[in-house]
Amino acid sequence: MELDLDLRSRRVLIVGRFHESRRAIARYLAAEATVYLASPTPASKSGRLQVVDYPTNAGEWADIVSAVDLVVAVDIDKKADALLTAACTARRTWLSREPATAAAEIGRVTLIGGGPGDEGLFTLAGKAALREADVVYYDRLAPHGQLDRWAPGAELVDVGKKPGHHAVPQDQIERMLVASALDGQNVVRLKGGDPFVFGRGGEEVIACREAGVPVVVIPGVTSAIAVPGAVGIPVTHRNVSHLVTIVSGHAPLEERELAHLAGLGGTIVVLMGVSNLPHLAAGLARHGMAPGMPIAIIERGFSTNQRTTIADIDTIVPVATAVGAQSPAVLVIGEVVALSGHAAIDLAELAETSAHAAG
Ligand code: SAH
Repeated sequence: MELDLDLRSRRVLIVGRFHESRRAIARYLAAEATVYLASPTPASKSGRLQVVDYPTNAGEWADIVSAVDLVVAVDIDKKADALLTAACTARRTWLSREPATAAAEIGRVTLIGGGPGDEGLFTLAGKAALREADVVYYDRLAPHGQLDRWAPGAELVDVGKKPGHHAVPQDQIERMLVASALDGQNVVRLKGGDPFVFGRGGEEVIACREAGVPVVVIPGVTSAIAVPGAVGIPVTHRNVSHLVTIVSGHAPLEERELAHLAGLGGTIVVLMGVSNLPHLAAGLARHGMAPGMPIAIIERGFSTNQRTTIADIDTIVPVATAVGAQSPAVLVIGEVVALSGHAAIDLAELAETSAHAAG
């Protein structure tokens, strides 16, 4: 008999050896239950799993069983099973028995960096891993147009933002990866650029390790370096810049960070920086960045509508507004921008052309 129960926020006690209970743990966590584990063997607290003491007598079993909604027994010894069953019967707590997870039944997770969008920049190692995948969880910034051909045997799951839909929350993605792997699947997590450059790949690796799931990372070409490169901007250049700092512009930088950055020299590359550009440009100028310092905005790198806008730190905000700069874009601040061969946009000229267009 099968029951379809809503377990959200229900207290579920899993009784079993940690290693053998992993699949049950992942399944009940994925169902958003509050999961406790009582294990006769040492168990490490992982993620949202709460580890409780293993009961040793009838009284302790009765106490623990009456504190939860459901008990799941995973292959426990006869004596414990008898005590547990008696306690559940006496306290009218649901009891379910589930098979143990065998080590060999576990799949693995491969994190792939898909590069900045161009299929030619997808690695051979990434393609080889896709061919073997049973399920692919992908983001929209990753190249995904050909996934049905590159991962012919896989279920394709879009976990990124779609217009009108929110992205799947990070902790849920982690639960999905772990649950699929514990189910024996060969899981691929495909991300844009490199998984470890503002890609939250590190968090996914930790989640896998905590659940005992084998995980490997295949690096990707990061947009932080490749997108400037696509328009002829080398992030380092002999005698021009011998240091490059990659910054997230997702949240406004603190004063202290702006002061450090303005005084650091070299090249500053900002990802996710379009909406906070006014704050960033004003902050860097306020902390003494040279007034004529060039800055480039490269939108939609490697796509057919890639666009480069160049101005300097004092003029970039009105220029970006005038051209309607939008995410996804990489910002590059530093003398290397001048090497691109692109002319800087002249504000007066821009005003004239827009007046022309409007008239
Ligand atoms: N892990 C990714 C970055 C993820 S953060 C990497 O290594 O590239 C997402 C940000 O990356 C976007 O907001 C944008 O700033 C940048 N980005 C990624 N792909 C891009 C592209 N093709 N063109 C311009 N910017 C891009």
